[in-house]
Amino acid sequence: MAEEIVDGKIKVRGVFMKEKGLIQIYTGNGKGKTTAALGLALRAAGRDKRILMVQFMKKWDYGELHSIKKIPQITIKTFGTKDFVHKGKAKEIDYQEAEKAFKEGTEGVLSGKYDIVIFDELNVALDFDLLKADEVVKFLKDKPEDVEIIITGRNAPAELIELADLVTEMREIKHPFQKGIEARIGIEY
Ligand code: ATP
Ligand code: MG
Repeated sequence: MAEEIVDGKIKVRGVFMKEKGLIQIYTGNGKGKTTAALGLALRAAGRDKRILMVQFMKKWDYGELHSIKKIPQITIKTFGTKDFVHKGKAKEIDYQEAEKAFKEGTEGVLSGKYDIVIFDELNVALDFDLLKADEVVKFLKDKPEDVEIIITGRNAPAELIELADLVTEMREIKHPFQKGIEARIGIEY
C-alpha cells in the first residue's frame, strides 16, 4: 500500500488517515508518571504532532517548563498554587485552579489545535475531590475521535481506569526518598 508519513500524519494513496486517539493513564506510587508523559510528548513532537500538557496542582519551577521553550510543538500550562495541597483540606483557590486547569485542557481537546492533550496530575485532583470523576468521564466519552489523551497521577479512579485503553501502574520498589535523598534539580524537578 502506498503509505507515507507527512507532517506526522499517515497518508494512504494521497488521503490523510485520521488516527483514532486513545486514552492512556499513568498511575501508581512509583516515580515516572509525569516524565513518561513528557517522554511521549518529546517523541510525538519529533513527528510534528502538537501537544498540550495541562498540569494540575503544580505552580512550581519544573525543568520541563524550560525545555519546552525549545520545542514549539509542545505547550505546557500550569495551574494550582505554590502551596502543597493536603487531602481533605483543599482551599477554595485549589478548587478554582482545578476547574481552570480542566477547562484549559478540555478547550484544548476541542480546539482542533492539538493531537495529544496531557492532563498531568488529574488523578490526584480527582482523588482530592477538587473535580468530579463523572464530569471527566462524560467529557472523555464524547471527546473528538482523533485526539489522544494522557492522564497522570497517583490513585486513578476506577471509572477512568474502566474507560481507558491503556493503563500503566508505576509500582514503587525503591525510591531514594526512602533513604532521605531529597528531590534533585533536573531529576525530580
Ligand atoms: P516524575 O515527575 O519524576 O515522573 P511522578 O510523576 O511519577 O514522577 P508524582 O506522584 O507526580 O511522581 O510525584 C511528585 C514528585 O514526587 C516528583 O518530583 C517525583 O519524582 C517524586 N516522587 C515520585 N515517586 C515518589 C516516591 N515513591 N517517593 C517519594 N517521592 C516520589
Ligand atoms: Mg507526576
